[in-house]
Amino acid sequence: MTEIVHPLLRSIGRGLRHKCPSCGDAPLFRRYLKVNEACPACEHRLAQYPADDGPAYVTILLTGHLIIAPLLLFPIVWESDPIYSVPIILGSLTILMLAALPRVKGGWIGLMYALGVNDQDARLHTADAAD
Ligand SMILES: [Zn+2]
Repeated sequence: MTEIVHPLLRSIGRGLRHKCPSCGDAPLFRRYLKVNEACPACEHRLAQYPADDGPAYVTILLTGHLIIAPLLLFPIVWESDPIYSVPIILGSLTILMLAALPRVKGGWIGLMYALGVNDQDARLHTADAAD
């Protein structure tokens, strides 16, 4: 059973703002989705928190449920000419997902920090246990 070892909302909030979940002062990423190896301010090792595909799944889940499903309620979406509506919708969704993904990844890393899950826990992964 995983216990919360750091304040949950504070850690996730700092991650969502692209800040180190430990100190909240330094940037979490050095590039678009590349996590700093260690925090430049507090030297906390940030690369130890696994993200894998979790942020991508959460981003797709949020986009699908909060944007695409409600979008289908508007008749203009399915009554308009697809030549115009499909590029506009797909372009908007692409921009939205590219903007949301680093925030979700930051929040995910904040969650891993709060729960104390790190790369040492990789042995608990069921696919690895099968080996
Ligand atoms: Zn820090």
